[in-house]
Amino acid sequence: MENNNNNSNPYQSLLNQMDEAAKIAGLEPDDYIFLRYPEREITVNFPVKMDDGQLRMFTGHRVQHSSIRGPYKGGLRYHPNLDMDEVRALAGWMTFKCAVADIPYGGAKGGIVCDPCELSDYEMERLTRTYTAKIVDFIGPSIDIPAPDINTNAQIMSWIMDTYGKLEGCYAPGVVTGKPLEMGGSLGRQGAAGRGAAIITREIAAKAGINLEGASVALQGFGNVGRAAAESLHLLGARIVALCDISGAFYCKTGIDIPGLLEYVKTSPRHLIKGFTQDGLTPIDNDDLLRAKVDFLVLAAMENQITRKVAKEVQARILVEAANGPTTYEGNKILVERGITTVPDILTNSGGVVVSYFEWVQNMQHMAWDMETINCNLERIMVQSFNEVYTMAEKKDIPMREAAYIVALKRLVATQKARGFFP
Ligand code: GLU
Repeated sequence: MENNNNNSNPYQSLLNQMDEAAKIAGLEPDDYIFLRYPEREITVNFPVKMDDGQLRMFTGHRVQHSSIRGPYKGGLRYHPNLDMDEVRALAGWMTFKCAVADIPYGGAKGGIVCDPCELSDYEMERLTRTYTAKIVDFIGPSIDIPAPDINTNAQIMSWIMDTYGKLEGCYAPGVVTGKPLEMGGSLGRQGAAGRGAAIITREIAAKAGINLEGASVALQGFGNVGRAAAESLHLLGARIVALCDISGAFYCKTGIDIPGLLEYVKTSPRHLIKGFTQDGLTPIDNDDLLRAKVDFLVLAAMENQITRKVAKEVQARILVEAANGPTTYEGNKILVERGITTVPDILTNSGGVVVSYFEWVQNMQHMAWDMETINCNLERIMVQSFNEVYTMAEKKDIPMREAAYIVALKRLVATQKARGFFP
């Protein structure tokens, strides 16, 4: 698993990051060696009957990185290029993310290697239910709690909850989060990661002395996270001048009409931005977007976007990582050298799992919170974790990414010390 020369492996990047933070924090390698290895890795291969009657084999993964601070927690991703190193890294980042937010969870991630665009709804349902049956012994409200991630949604969470309940003979809404309201979902869960990222942008803007009212933003990604981030940033007065998704990218100096675009993608093919028009809107390359001269570059797409090469050309004042792992290890080194502030993923995008936590708490108590309670608590946790990371960065004169890892590592190591080792 470990290869010191291969920095582009995302799990290796996480290990490097962890080592650097541990060194600054004065931790010995033995203090956190247990975090270098995921506690359990599950891979399942299973057949699914397709609509045409043919059987097709699928592969699914679930990596349970750490349960030191609570049950494993993290999303499920359906993607044709999903691979184990990526899932491992995503699981590890969940451990750190939950520790930064100080919510009582460990970290996990999983998914199925598939292209959802090629699957009918019925195929998707059979695929999801079969995968759930294969991992049923390893999930549960106090064991491991999946949630949506790329290409998964509330409907998929419903099928998982239903399959789990049928197999275990119980009603257990707490087995997954990100469910629809009628299945025990929470108000405000959808879009929580994007709203949280906007709160973090507002906080860093204040520290950097940038007035968010009228500040320019380039936004990569217009999926669940990107859309909610755009909406919240727009409400805060920011001017989103460049935006992209997998169907293309565009630029508008005076600001993209976000309410108009949000309305447009409700009915556009696959909810993509392609075909949207507005006065002054010009098409650009995705790469141009990453190099745009803006106050904030908000990354809300996939991993490995800011590579060494791109990092040399970034012109944004501040990078906001609303996606998981959008900056490579080498890319990050360049950004640090260039003095570009980056607000790291494990702090910025925790809004999703924080509201997942609220959903799970409501499920355990058979209660439903109102929107105000959700929003107040989200605001409180985001601002508190931002301040903790920012203060650590100031105190040690280090970038916020290292500071976030230190905040998380200290919590994880303290809990492990208190637990001791068994047997
Ligand atoms: N998939 C989201 C993330 O990467 C949410 C995970 C969750 O709610 O458990 O943070």
